Amino acid sequence: MQFVYQPNSQRIIFGAGTLKQLPDEVALLGIKRPMIISTEFQKDMAESTKELLGEGFESSIFAKAVMHVPRDSINAIMAEIEANNNDGCVCVGGGSTIGLGKAVALETGLPSIVVPTTYAGSEMTPIWGITEDGIKTTGRDQKVLAKTVIYDPELTVTLPDFISGPSGINAIAHCVEALYAENKNPVISLMSEEGIKALAESLPVVVVEPDNMEARSKALYGAWLAGTALGTVGMSIHHKLCHTLGGSFNLPHAEVHSVIIPHATKYNQEDAPEAMAAIARALNTTPDDAAGALFDLLSKVGAPTTLEAIGMKEEDLDKAAEIALSKPYYNPREVTLEGVKELLKNAYSGIRP
Ligand code: NAD
Repeated sequence: MQFVYQPNSQRIIFGAGTLKQLPDEVALLGIKRPMIISTEFQKDMAESTKELLGEGFESSIFAKAVMHVPRDSINAIMAEIEANNNDGCVCVGGGSTIGLGKAVALETGLPSIVVPTTYAGSEMTPIWGITEDGIKTTGRDQKVLAKTVIYDPELTVTLPDFISGPSGINAIAHCVEALYAENKNPVISLMSEEGIKALAESLPVVVVEPDNMEARSKALYGAWLAGTALGTVGMSIHHKLCHTLGGSFNLPHAEVHSVIIPHATKYNQEDAPEAMAAIARALNTTPDDAAGALFDLLSKVGAPTTLEAIGMKEEDLDKAAEIALSKPYYNPREVTLEGVKELLKNAYSGIRP
């Protein structure tokens, strides 16, 4: 056995009701004038966060984070940060909100605390993404890694079932690809298997009983493990395809991940036997049915099962395959045009792999 394991250094606070520790955590980082970031939709959460921080802090709010971190939104928040002389950020929300906080950190080096409210996992990664002139550029920089993450499942009860399901499958996809990553290691593999198990057991409950705190806790725990995996090892064909489909064909992020992951798993089945065994243990099935069991999970959590259902046009499938092959990347099985075309065709019609 040979591996390199380099964990990211972050402080994690986990548990129902832990949001109340935010003032202490903000103070611990030496932040006095935090900029609280959220989407317009979660403005109420941003306002209650400001109230929680209280008069000991000179807090500001920017409740205009949007999908894919467009340059305009970075310019807008930077102007406010300069005007208010903010010395750190508190991000309350999902990947879109956290992404804007990362863009701020990239430009300014300001520290951030993240309170995630979805299962996407961005809070655990040093990966940033910025969209300019319609093109999303991504990169890795330790500067954008949140210093502290507060996982409070109470904040996820308002996450509707149609976001909870796909968002949780998005997290499972991080775990699946971590299991066959080029730089995989035993610690992240343990976390990934546990992540798949925790999410697969909790998500079917979460979508029918949104305020079941035990299920919400377990799902968020799985999301933490998944985010850690995503932030520590490299991803392969699944993430590459989802990036292409989301970016070039404007398909919704978590839903694309949901539709593709069973087919990407099937694609790698023969060349990643240890990963298949781990997925199978987590899903209580046999290694040759790991992909099939992931597909079955989609319906149990109300996630889409076909590319057609999320707006992909059949005539664009071949173009998507060509774009996905334009730059080489690591994958356990050789990535061929014919192979990717077939994968996308199956995902388009939702054939059980
Ligand atoms: P999102 O942040 O876009 O949130 C979706 C919607 O749900 C928003 O309107 C948001 O306000 C709302 N919402 C979030 N939490 C809620 C809650 N608890 N209750 C009610 N509404 C809530 O969605 P996402 O899936 O978390 O993030 C997707 C984005 O994150 C994509 O752009 C993706 O590329 C990025 N991402 C980045 C990384 C990374 O490591 N850089 C990792 C994962 C995802």
